[in-house]
Amino acid sequence: MVPEVDPSLATEFALASLVVPVLGLGAYRLGAVDITGYVAGLFAGITVFWLGGWTWFVLVFYLTTVGSIFTRLGFSRKAGLGVAQEKGGRRGWRNVTANLLVGGVAALLFRYTGVGLWYAFFLGAVNSMASDTLATEIGLTSAERPRLITRLRERVEAGTSGAVTWRGAYATLGAAIGGGVIGTMGGSALGWSFPLAIAVAVVGGVSGTFFDSIIGATLQGRYKCRECGKETERGTHCGSPAEILRGSRFMDNDMVNVVSSLLGGSVAAGAFLLL
Ligand SMILES: [Zn+2]
Repeated sequence: MVPEVDPSLATEFALASLVVPVLGLGAYRLGAVDITGYVAGLFAGITVFWLGGWTWFVLVFYLTTVGSIFTRLGFSRKAGLGVAQEKGGRRGWRNVTANLLVGGVAALLFRYTGVGLWYAFFLGAVNSMASDTLATEIGLTSAERPRLITRLRERVEAGTSGAVTWRGAYATLGAAIGGGVIGTMGGSALGWSFPLAIAVAVVGGVSGTFFDSIIGATLQGRYKCRECGKETERGTHCGSPAEILRGSRFMDNDMVNVVSSLLGGSVAAGAFLLL
């Protein structure tokens, strides 16, 4: 017996396998990802393009592009403050996977069930990552000393997890609306109205970013280096294990992204059911 192949899905797969590697190579050449990030991006990108369709992939492309552009915005100043992304802003496989894992699973569930709810989930999850990345990277360019989201009276160092600025808040909203406008393409394919797609994406993106800050300020591991005495989010510093000050060793930056995109996707799915 020859297994049945859905001809439309075979076409989508072929198209995805052509388009995603080329766009990914562009992202690699422009310094958005390193080679491991490129490979992780291929898996996630092809999955989303193949199982969701090109309209879904456009949102992933949006996340990658604006994330990369705004990571470079004021990069030398961020580097001077010690808050810039490592490796000149190139993101590795852990970062790429943390940003796209939940969205990829949503595409899988959508194809398996055929239920539009999973598009709402996808929209919220991926838009959370776009909004959070922009909130972080644009917020870091602000001269304002950030406050901790859980104790708004307290000013903290720029780059502290859970630190928020007005500029970051505006960036969150702007990025979430941008993702919403792009999300209308996938929405109209499912018969959604424009306002519905934008509302679902904005509610998901903003709440995912909010959760990211809350978890960053509470559950995320924070350490003190035993060698140089610096406070850091990395479990090792100066080549040796750092002392944990608060939070959990399990909850690093990437895990915070996975959990907050899961929550952003869930809120978006809830909004879709209510609207
Ligand atoms: Zn150190």
